[in-house]
Formats: sequence, C-alpha cells, structure tokens
Amino acid sequence: MKGTWTYLDIRKGDMVVVLSGKDKGAKGKVIRTIPSEHKVLVEGVNMVSKNLRPTQKMPQGRIAKLEAPILASKVMLVCPSCHQPTRVAHRLIAGGKSVRSCRKCDEMIDKA
Ligand SMILES: [Zn+2]
Repeated sequence: MKGTWTYLDIRKGDMVVVLSGKDKGAKGKVIRTIPSEHKVLVEGVNMVSKNLRPTQKMPQGRIAKLEAPILASKVMLVCPSCHQPTRVAHRLIAGGKSVRSCRKCDEMIDKA
C-alpha cells in the first residue's frame, strides 16, 4: 500500500486520540505528518527505546525514549471546539478554499 496515500486529514499541531494498539486512549499533539507513509508522529505516543552509541561522557551508551510514527488510521482528530474525537468533514468556504470541520459539532477546525 506504500505510496498510495497522499492525503491526511490530520495536520501538524492537531490533537489526536489513539484508537488502537498499546497506546489506545492516549492523547497527544501531532509533531509531524508523513503523508507518503500515511503516518503521523504524536507527542508521547508509541514511545520506543533507542540505544544511543557510547560516547566519552557516557561509555555505557544510553537508552533514549523516542516517538515512533504510527498509522494515521489508528488515530482520530480531537475537535478543538467540542473536545470529542471526530471524523473530519471538508467544507468549501468563500474563495473556493477548503477547510476542515467537525462532524459532531459542525465547527470549523481550521481557521478560515
Ligand atoms: Zn466538534
């Protein structure tokens, strides 16, 4: 499926909630989106341990916790207006611009 996804309803800075997996129910802010892989990087979600090479200061090396990207389909946007996880609707506004809106409360998610 790689390469078939190009569009994400989720953008950098959005709050999302995790729907499945070990971090189910966790909420976090989107740090980065990777549309080509249909993945997102979410603050504090899907933490993995990474061994860092030993340095002179730390001869034993070090284990760092880092976020790993997760599939965008495993997270759902949290609406900034009604604070509920929601699917995203798209709405055309004056000028032909498309903005995202909440399917639950109908408020716009993006600033027009
Ligand atoms: Zn809403």
